[in-house]
Amino acid sequence: MVIIMAKALYIHIPFCNTICTYCDFPKLAGASNQIDDYIQTLCHEMDYYRAEIATTETIYIGGGTPSSIGLKPLAILLSKIESMVRITNITEYTIEANPQDITTDFVKLIKSHHVSRVSVGVQTINPQLQTSIGRHETKAIVIQAVKVLKEAEILNINLDFIYGIPGETLSDLQADIDFAVSVNPQHLSFYSLILEEKTKIMHDIKLGKITPIDKDIEADMFELVMNELPKHQYFQYEISNFSKTHFQSKHNMIYWKVQPYLGLGMGAHSQVEMTRFHNYPRLAAYMKAVKTTGTGLESFDPCNLAQETGLMNLRLLEGISVKAFHDRFGYDILTRYPLLNINIASGLLELSDGKLRLTHRGIMLMNRVETSFIDGSDIDA
Ligand code: SF4
Repeated sequence: MVIIMAKALYIHIPFCNTICTYCDFPKLAGASNQIDDYIQTLCHEMDYYRAEIATTETIYIGGGTPSSIGLKPLAILLSKIESMVRITNITEYTIEANPQDITTDFVKLIKSHHVSRVSVGVQTINPQLQTSIGRHETKAIVIQAVKVLKEAEILNINLDFIYGIPGETLSDLQADIDFAVSVNPQHLSFYSLILEEKTKIMHDIKLGKITPIDKDIEADMFELVMNELPKHQYFQYEISNFSKTHFQSKHNMIYWKVQPYLGLGMGAHSQVEMTRFHNYPRLAAYMKAVKTTGTGLESFDPCNLAQETGLMNLRLLEGISVKAFHDRFGYDILTRYPLLNINIASGLLELSDGKLRLTHRGIMLMNRVETSFIDGSDIDA
């Protein structure tokens, strides 16, 4: 794979201490004896993409749980990254962390390697709901983690939450929101729980042990998040993401604007123009591929870039620039995707200042608007 210019670099660390019941990410638990070998393999894969990595503007180390691998392997990885990028070009450098891993030594290490943003996995602070999704963070641990980050002057902190957990009520969610804003991070993500096949939670639902949350209550929860967070100066800029002014995630904006990114590590994806690349999602196959070919690449498939851009831009509250779309693809978005006009007429989309954006009703019914880019209206795809 040759990526002429990667604007964003994603590094996947698949190790987790325990497995959350809803998770379908590429991850491994109880595999700590493989960490050193994995980091070494990842460094080899980085060498393969030396030229592409050199141009990156954002870095995101995600997982899995990158903070769980121990300071020594993490130091090797961070040093390797630092040796390959132009640090002065990096506008945002994020690492994901579990609250209990955020110690002064951890923060000292990441800071010494120029990491500027930490995304902390909280999900919920309700003990019963935590147990049902396999997580254990207490309020005190999260508060302490954020305190350690702030004391070290890491002043770009995201907290990740999930809502719509089976058994959750609106007042449970309100308590999570109240807690989130009280900790005062710069960025908050509130994702609705997606029930994926082959996860423990889905298995339990199929067995009738758990009842998924009612769709109307889930919609009320989404409304609650959207209404409450702006009261505390967290402005929604993407369907599930809210930030204080100037703290939108630069790395994720590259995904949502469908600009080229390089993903390295087990199960990572990359995208460049019309092609999406996939690394092997299993550890042994990934390690073998890198050792024999230099890259963990398993497959690639064509990507309908115009459709992808429409779908991803739709998630952004700023909307889709009709001119930018025309400049990029050479045709008018409303002509190419005529069903968008019907969504404008029915009040799910609005067109103003040259931007096509979801209305409040459109945000609630985004699935319906998304079909404008899919339902046979993509005449040339
Ligand atoms: S949600 Fe995150 S921490 Fe939990 S198992 Fe999945 S990758 Fe690991």
